[in-house]
Amino acid sequence: MKKITIAIDGYSSCGKSTMAKDLAREIGYVYVDSGAMYRAVTLYALSNSLIHDGKIDEARLRDEMKNIHITFRFNPEHGRPDTYLNNEYVEDRIRTLEISEHVSPIAALGFVREEMVRQQQQMGQEGGIIMDGRDIGTTVFPEAELKIFVTASSEIRAQRRYAELSAKGEVCDMADILHNVEERDYIDTHREISPLRQAADALVLDNSHMTIAEQKQWLLQAYKHAAED
Ligand code: C5P
Repeated sequence: MKKITIAIDGYSSCGKSTMAKDLAREIGYVYVDSGAMYRAVTLYALSNSLIHDGKIDEARLRDEMKNIHITFRFNPEHGRPDTYLNNEYVEDRIRTLEISEHVSPIAALGFVREEMVRQQQQMGQEGGIIMDGRDIGTTVFPEAELKIFVTASSEIRAQRRYAELSAKGEVCDMADILHNVEERDYIDTHREISPLRQAADALVLDNSHMTIAEQKQWLLQAYKHAAED
């Protein structure tokens, strides 16, 4: 089978990364969570006081972009890559609700996107990659052989996020999470640069009422079909 590029886009918290990393492990592809990169930039901005009362100091962030180095290291313990910011492990710190609340305005900035997209395209040069995000099939890899657009109702996505954060011991409120999910959807679909859109040639997967095992099976079939062509 040929090595292809797989682009998985969709709304926040719809299980894209779970599907993507499971498939990557099964077929021996590299998995890249592009959202983790925007989250790491957000963590850097918050840790370096580049956001005050929700307002981003764009001039300073633009200047600091050269000091932000994001890498992934495969962790055999859970079979997926962990995110590192300037060589520091940040996988847990980028998944909090605080980061979720600030990430979409950071990801809407042109100079942030330009740099992230450049790095993502570099990672995918050899093919054999699965990347998930918002603009992978439309901007990062418009030539990807397989494009998937994942969606689910916002209530179901908020419930999944709530379960995920609670399992990690984060105290959270369901109403806050639903608000965050809907707010990010709005910003991600309305921003000027590379808004979240379904690529014309993407397969749509609404997983509102599917189990993880069913999604996994669906994705494996889609991959086989695309790679055999
Ligand atoms: O996928 P995840 O929810 O972790 O992504 C966090 C945020 O990063 C999204 O809400 C979106 O604002 C941004 N993002 C993006 N483009 C991508 C991936 C994520 O704008 N390719």
